[in-house]
Amino acid sequence: MEEREAIEKIARWIVESNRVVIFTGAGVSTESGIPDFRSPGGLWDRYNPNDFYFQRFLSSEEAQEKYWQMHSELYKTLKASKPNPAHYACVELYKMGRLSSVITQNIDNLHQEAGLPEERVIELHGNALRVSCLSCGRLYSREKVQRRIDAGEKIPRCAECGGLLKPTTISFGQTMPQEEMRRAEAEARNAALFIVVGSSLVVHPAASMPLYAKEAGARLVIVNLASTPYDDWADLLIRGKAGEVLSEVLKSAKEILTKN
Ligand code: NAD
Repeated sequence: MEEREAIEKIARWIVESNRVVIFTGAGVSTESGIPDFRSPGGLWDRYNPNDFYFQRFLSSEEAQEKYWQMHSELYKTLKASKPNPAHYACVELYKMGRLSSVITQNIDNLHQEAGLPEERVIELHGNALRVSCLSCGRLYSREKVQRRIDAGEKIPRCAECGGLLKPTTISFGQTMPQEEMRRAEAEARNAALFIVVGSSLVVHPAASMPLYAKEAGARLVIVNLASTPYDDWADLLIRGKAGEVLSEVLKSAKEILTKN
């Protein structure tokens, strides 16, 4: 199918439905200047993922230092980045009454920054702009913690109880946030149209969401630059850039709505 035809088809499915769920991964934010992890030049080219297991973070000072080094680098990138047309397209679809929620694996806060209400964004892997104490749960401003690191602290600890501080992101081996997982699964199973945007769909359990949607009868669309293990399950597949494709889909949906 030609890309134009595919875009119009997705737009028609959107217009027919008020239960659209968009599932996003790192690929939705690369056009905002945040590299994904697995493409060449991504973070896993420069850091070894094995160093970032939660159990290692808890037990090794070396791992804690490395973790904060990586997160300091990431934070500087996140601070400098702005939402791109893909994030804004999600907001527009919400304002049009079509979008039920965005389930995201991203930790960059860009869906909210684009204007999507907090309760419409289900963050499966947490948020890098929030920091909490692993012992007492006290919350810290990410910016203030970064200032401490920039001033020479290598492993920031809680001012209250001395516990380890960590951004509220989910590390390998760390328990998934139960409430977010429950909500995401319910949204996936209730979707009429489930659109994956910019995810390699290899990180589990998040990557099960498209399967829940498909199992429950939703149409599945995948918009991604590279292939994914679920391409054969998709009703429609577009190998394109998130920002460009979603902008075109949005434009086409608006055209259909004004014609009707
Ligand atoms: P991933 O890195 O495994 O896959 C990203 C996918 O997006 C790749 O298949 C790539 O081909 C595709 N892609 C890249 N740019 C694209 C674009 N402009 N348009 C369409 N597709 C594009 O990412 P993932 O599936 O999200 O899983 C990785 C984990 O890394 C997630 O858990 C996430 O929490 C984390 N992560 C988050 C961010 C972020 O918050 N922005 C950035 C990097 C990694």
